[in-house]
Amino acid sequence: MTSAEPVSEQDGFTSQTLSYAAPGAKAPLSPYAFERHVPREHDVAIDIQYCGICHTDIHQVRDEWGGSTFPMVPGHEITGVVRAIGGKVSKFKVGDRVGVGCFVDSCRKCAQCQQGLEQYCMVALVVTYNGRDHDGRPTQGGYSNKIVVNENYVLRIPDNLPLDAAAPLLCAGITLYSPLKHWDAGPGKKVAIVGLGGLGHMGVKIAHALGAEVSVLSHSLHKQLDAKRLGADHFYATSSPETFQKLALCFDLIINTVSAEIDWNHYLGLLKVDGTMVVVGAPEKRIPISAISLITGRRSLSGSDIGGIRETQEMLDFCAQHRLTSDIEIIPVQQVNQAYERVLSSDVRYRFVIDMASLA
Ligand code: NAP
Ligand code: ZN
Repeated sequence: MTSAEPVSEQDGFTSQTLSYAAPGAKAPLSPYAFERHVPREHDVAIDIQYCGICHTDIHQVRDEWGGSTFPMVPGHEITGVVRAIGGKVSKFKVGDRVGVGCFVDSCRKCAQCQQGLEQYCMVALVVTYNGRDHDGRPTQGGYSNKIVVNENYVLRIPDNLPLDAAAPLLCAGITLYSPLKHWDAGPGKKVAIVGLGGLGHMGVKIAHALGAEVSVLSHSLHKQLDAKRLGADHFYATSSPETFQKLALCFDLIINTVSAEIDWNHYLGLLKVDGTMVVVGAPEKRIPISAISLITGRRSLSGSDIGGIRETQEMLDFCAQHRLTSDIEIIPVQQVNQAYERVLSSDVRYRFVIDMASLA
């Protein structure tokens, strides 16, 4: 294609899109058809093959953070193959293996966007679903058979990563990679991952590959063998009161992936002097913090939100180099509501991935 005209149906793209959507808050997901926009000159149209189920999808469908809009097609761990490209696309060609994560556009001008920290764009971040694009249209996510995204917000999936097990890297992978890199996890650093779920299991794999000494803090003993297999050096059950005494002043860095209400002050006490706890799990309610937990060890409490486009590509290339993917259970889209229940009861090892061929 050479012109800057929109891609037509004859070029292999039809706007009719099949999906599963939540019709209202807490309602079960069911089949839903809608129209994607026709690719513009810098857009890439992607045939979605797989989409991971992130716990965020469940928070959003249940409107646990407020502001959800319906019908909602969740899904921001998307992998697939390029079906059509706009006339000015230079980064991708038809047939490329690609991914889309948690956002599909941003203002492109603010300080954050200029630095490749688009996830912190305060002006006009366009999230992949449950948001609005720059034309005011609702965005719809990856539990669908196609998506159309500006080429600057599309990631390249390295050839040695399978598209199914790579899908969760687009959110779970980058959400752990970014803080691990930012706070210098590596040789000589003691890192704790709290919660061995979709995010946590990627955190263990990535922190281990970075050379850190990795501990898993899990709410029961059930996942002990898995944690070691995934690369953890140590495993502790937080249900045991001795754990918090034994591990006092132990860690340089704690990444907390849990969205259940747990007492963060107990975890801050496990940090060394100058240690940092980074919150990535997002509880529904506010968690009270005692100043003493921070003051007594010059400790820091921080947060981290996914990662920018450049860093997400860096993470994918890192995972390709270290042959890291997610541990997944593939399901047809018709099982998505049961899968949500299993995520909520910590009964997934460690990410559900929907095979979008099941939509047909
Ligand atoms: P997940 O797969 O459900 O994992 C959460 C883990 O939390 C569970 O596997 C479990 O691990 C632990 N947990 C569950 N219930 C618990 C309880 N009652 N007490 C203590 N621990 C409990 O969820 P996820 O997809 O990893 O997402 C985790 C959180 O991160 C969600 O709130 C999600 O919205 C958020 N998130 C944030 C970002 C970001 O950019 N900051 C990105 C994606 C997701 P154990 O069995 O090992 O205890
Ligand atoms: Zn997510």
